Amino acid sequence: MKKTAFRLSLLLLTLALVFSLAACQTLTPQGPVDAGSSPVTDPATDPVTDPATDPATDPATDPATDPATDPETDLATDPETDPETDPETEPQEIKNLILIIGDGMGLDHIAAGELTYGKDFGFTDWDFVTVNTDSVYANGYGPVLTDSAASGTALATGHLTVNGYIGKDHNQVDVQTILDYAKSLGKATGVLTTDSLLGATPAAFSAHSRSRSNAQEIANSQIYSGVDLLGGATDSTCTALVNQIEAQGYYYIDTFDDIERAARKQKTYWQLDMAGTDADVQLEHAVYYALKMLSRNDEGFVLILEQAYIDKYSHSNDFANMVHSVNSLNNTVEVILEWMGERTDTAVLITADHETGGLTVGSKAGSYTKTFTGEGGKTVYYNWSSTNHTQAKVGLFTYGITTPDYSKFSYYGSPFTIKNIDVFNLMKDILDNPVTYNPYN
Ligand SMILES: [Zn+2]
Repeated sequence: MKKTAFRLSLLLLTLALVFSLAACQTLTPQGPVDAGSSPVTDPATDPVTDPATDPATDPATDPATDPATDPETDLATDPETDPETDPETEPQEIKNLILIIGDGMGLDHIAAGELTYGKDFGFTDWDFVTVNTDSVYANGYGPVLTDSAASGTALATGHLTVNGYIGKDHNQVDVQTILDYAKSLGKATGVLTTDSLLGATPAAFSAHSRSRSNAQEIANSQIYSGVDLLGGATDSTCTALVNQIEAQGYYYIDTFDDIERAARKQKTYWQLDMAGTDADVQLEHAVYYALKMLSRNDEGFVLILEQAYIDKYSHSNDFANMVHSVNSLNNTVEVILEWMGERTDTAVLITADHETGGLTVGSKAGSYTKTFTGEGGKTVYYNWSSTNHTQAKVGLFTYGITTPDYSKFSYYGSPFTIKNIDVFNLMKDILDNPVTYNPYN
């Protein structure tokens, strides 16, 4: 997606404002924005080992079949690679939507990941606005410092609600999720998380309950949700329900060894070893098969992905594992972009449900009290100011679609800030107006 200089300057101004406000000093977490650069980074650091995406076995990078070295398939005239004549890039509708949620991932968490790993995450060059995440009291008024249940429900349903509520508005009425809506349009649907499926964020997209602690109710609600792919970390409450899960037509697996077979099914339920630091590679592995499965539907799909450990490690102010999880989210994005290739029918959105830890980071000592040695020995300076969620705004990054007209969603009359329920409103708008959002029309 090409950007105009104007939009680039807006992005830089916004980022500069956001980061300087957040850290009360000039930070340099963003390298120069290069609209032409590929978000896919060095294959040598890509942990994906699926044969289909392994650069080592990808025919596109095999010198023996490289079109660049074959005079018969000169890139300049090859219809296969010419965007002007490639049918893959003809105007079409956006039919697939992928929402990636970094639980607890504030803007400084992303900057921390970039500083620590010494690279630009490609998605920080995408279209960008900030998002307010506050929830409400039972009377419908706020603002209230949100938990993941209320903020997940806001993203999933477009309703502001009370902390603890799952898929219910502030009057405790069940409300339609974006996945219910996608289903009504004939699309395939999926939820994939490194957390238990019963965690507040995945639950908000696939269940209804008065309390995020009602594990049994949420598990049952999910089984009857009609969501085609339910995937998360192993949870004993879910394990005890295998018979009911299978009775609802789900192909149940509990090991990565079976994931390829499961990806060929219509409905499937995954309980996998997704927890903790090692799980970061597992999310990247699992998303490859989730895309394989859901993209078989001709009407398209909506997939919700969550990297839950950014929040968990921020609660314990564990910087090393937190940045590892942020990097995992970025690697997952790269798997998705590899899958997308030249596709023009897929929108990718990245956001967070809230910020956790009150994190600020920088590349200079300044007033920071803590340091971390990043890749290449570079020192990253940081502070935590909390072990809880904060009201810091998070980001919404969009890719594969025209720049959304945020003025129609704006909560604050600011072109740079929306409310979290507007992430739902934007997703619904994309599903309702798929041609409008295709940047190649
Ligand atoms: Zn949390």
